[in-house]
Amino acid sequence: MSLTAFLFRLIETARMDKKIDQKAIDEIKEQLLKQKKQILKDLSVFSREDEHEADDRSTSFPHYGDKPDENAQEITDYSTNVVTQRVLEKGLLDIEKALARIDKGTYGICKYCQNPINEKRLLARPTASSCISCKTELQENE
Ligand SMILES: [Zn+2]
Repeated sequence: MSLTAFLFRLIETARMDKKIDQKAIDEIKEQLLKQKKQILKDLSVFSREDEHEADDRSTSFPHYGDKPDENAQEITDYSTNVVTQRVLEKGLLDIEKALARIDKGTYGICKYCQNPINEKRLLARPTASSCISCKTELQENE
């Protein structure tokens, strides 16, 4: 391999494995905190009617009336709410985990191979906890 080719490869490798810098992490953290606030707001809609139960964020059961079609609609809406709430709670959990990694200083490191996660991937998906190759491998094994 010529020296030029070697240097080129070295630069390319360095670029690919570039560990995310603190400035980018700060921006991501701000973004995550904003998302967290939004999710908490979205989640509060589901438990608003049950204020005494607001702590456990239980999905409130809607009450439209006692006719069969009203009952059916209550069940449909309840199911939709439960699914939406689960998705939001999962998102919230991912955000909290990412924030915890930022605080611990382990943010941007793949939890499987301990290599830095590509910065572009983190910017596109700030809650990512694994690098693309590990993620791809896991999906192939599923
Ligand atoms: Zn990995």
